[in-house]
Amino acid sequence: MSRIAFIGLGNMGAPMAHNLLKAGHDLSVYDLVPGAVNTLADAGARPATSADDAAQGAEVVITMLPASKHVEALYLDCDLLASIDGAALVIDCSTIAPDSARKVAAAARARGLTMVDAPVSGGTAGAAAGTLTFIVGGEAAAFERAKPILEAMGKNIFHAGPAGAGQVAKICNNMLLGILMAGTSEALALGVANGLDPKVLSDIISKSSGRNWATELYNPWPGVMDNTPAAKGYAGGFGVDLMLKDLGLAAEAALSTRSSIPLGELARNLYSLHSGDGNGKLDFSSIVNLYTHKTQG
Ligand code: NAD
Repeated sequence: MSRIAFIGLGNMGAPMAHNLLKAGHDLSVYDLVPGAVNTLADAGARPATSADDAAQGAEVVITMLPASKHVEALYLDCDLLASIDGAALVIDCSTIAPDSARKVAAAARARGLTMVDAPVSGGTAGAAAGTLTFIVGGEAAAFERAKPILEAMGKNIFHAGPAGAGQVAKICNNMLLGILMAGTSEALALGVANGLDPKVLSDIISKSSGRNWATELYNPWPGVMDNTPAAKGYAGGFGVDLMLKDLGLAAEAALSTRSSIPLGELARNLYSLHSGDGNGKLDFSSIVNLYTHKTQG
């Protein structure tokens, strides 16, 4: 079992840290929100007073922060790297820009530290169940070191390539997810406007060529599935603003390589309009309201 520092105990980080504790690891935890630290301390983690304090003596340092600016601020501006033991492994699970991940990994390497980017897929339900998919970027040897730790929090652990590759793969996946959710919403709204029952239409699509993750597991239409954000007023889940962030990362990656992503850009604009209407904290499947409100109006 390893001595692990876990920094960033939000919607994803808290359940991930709980699973590391359950697996028997020795955890020190830190978040800017004291309540989040206290909850993990109640479960048996050592509450740290700062990120530097959490990292003291850790064999593995894991971060799960909102965005690139938070990761760069912590590792580079606040120089967390200086507090980490030379033999430790650093794993950043946040979804951030590939360039940002490469920059922090290079700074870690310059200090003799080993670092991987390991963004996740699977949402808060996957984090709680310990079934996340980890998409790792870094040296092969670093991937092998990270794997047993990540297996306590996830089911599928992939090595995408060198530093930053985990972020590239994650961004491609989420761009596709954003497009699929908007497309599924559009198709369901069209069917309902033309007299179909949304559940009947969803069942038909799920067994036809338009089937996808949204129709099978995460239907955006209220009343079609239980246990989805759509069944709970779009509370919880994966926020519109987080999807908007990921589509922005896709747009940046496309600009830097002169790639064309017309559907990804269209999806980014749809989620941006939806967020601007005050829906930023709702689950991203609430994008269906953009279509139903227009249909009803
Ligand atoms: P969140 O906002 O709920 O949690 C982030 C936490 O980081 C907060 O508790 C915040 O206080 C803390 N934090 C920020 N700066 C800090 C610092 N300097 N030191 C210590 N703590 C700090 O976000 P989340 O939903 O847990 O997402 C985390 C990351 O995972 C994001 O990059 C997100 O894109 C990605 N992600 C989220 C989901 C999801 O379904 N929520 C799914 C896959 C990936």
